[in-house]
Amino acid sequence: MPVTDKEPVGLAADLDALTEVPAARKGPPCSVGAVLTSVDEETAATLRRILSTRTVSSTAIAEVLNQHGRSITAYTVARHRRRGEANGCRCTR
Ligand SMILES: [Zn+2]
Repeated sequence: MPVTDKEPVGLAADLDALTEVPAARKGPPCSVGAVLTSVDEETAATLRRILSTRTVSSTAIAEVLNQHGRSITAYTVARHRRRGEANGCRCTR
């Protein structure tokens, strides 16, 4: 290792490398994802469970969310249910 290779050089290189990280394809969470992160753990768990209950329609879920002041359409709920798929939202599964 050359004597001139001092710490600041490594720091600059590492900072530079940050721009080479491929842009994350993940967008912001959808409004359903936003609800999940803004409510308490118990409510989030219940919502997740209902979202994975196929017999509950996306329309019904959207209705309840709207009753609680969350402006979410049935389409957004359905899209969240397909998260991770090509036509779903970008929330993590
Ligand atoms: Zn989502």
